[in-house]
Amino acid sequence: MELCDNCVKQATKLKRGSPHPDLETVGDVRIFGSINGYREQDYQCVVCQTKFSFSTNRNDFAWTIWRS
Ligand SMILES: [Zn+2]
Repeated sequence: MELCDNCVKQATKLKRGSPHPDLETVGDVRIFGSINGYREQDYQCVVCQTKFSFSTNRNDFAWTIWRS
């Protein structure tokens, strides 16, 4: 699987950061916990088909590539 340039940069965003322009949301936001919880959202790149999961959980990296 070859990552496009934008996805290579996206994978290095360990903290918050917005998705690059070719990332589209996949499915719905998943909300965990309540007020102090966190949420996750999946994205897929329309250029190279790479899938990312974005998490606001402080214990996770913000942007994680799906390894399948
Ligand atoms: Zn890409």
